[in-house]
Amino acid sequence: MTQDKTMRKPLPVVDFLKLPDVGDPYLEGSKCQNCGAVFPGARKTCAGCGTRNHMETIRLSNRGKLYSYSIVHRSFPGVPVPYISAVVALEGGCALKGCLIDTAPDPAKVAFDMPVKVVFQDARGQKDKDGNSYVSYFFSPEHTKEESR
Ligand SMILES: [Zn+2]
Repeated sequence: MTQDKTMRKPLPVVDFLKLPDVGDPYLEGSKCQNCGAVFPGARKTCAGCGTRNHMETIRLSNRGKLYSYSIVHRSFPGVPVPYISAVVALEGGCALKGCLIDTAPDPAKVAFDMPVKVVFQDARGQKDKDGNSYVSYFFSPEHTKEESR
């Protein structure tokens, strides 16, 4: 007998991270048809204006600017530190929390409003009990200071 060696499809780490069979991963959000506020994931009620049942499902932008961050020096056991926990204001709306990668965890290397892109990678080796891997989203600097003109 041979073992089933079918490739397992990685799982999204959050339900609003979409992994289509064709095309690149993306994040999905909800946009209020009344006030225009945008939120990650599916919503029926707008947290901005309270309007119900007028939320449109949209694809969130893969670009934004660093709004805020914290350098985390102590976390759960097994989580490598330090890392940068960030809040990014995506183009077109939506404030999204995540990890800023490809950047030294040093305040001298991190600038508010620096342009970042959303990238999708393996969730640092995490697996579920069946051995399935996860895909997560991260923020990465759009370019370095040397590249900007
Ligand atoms: Zn609203």
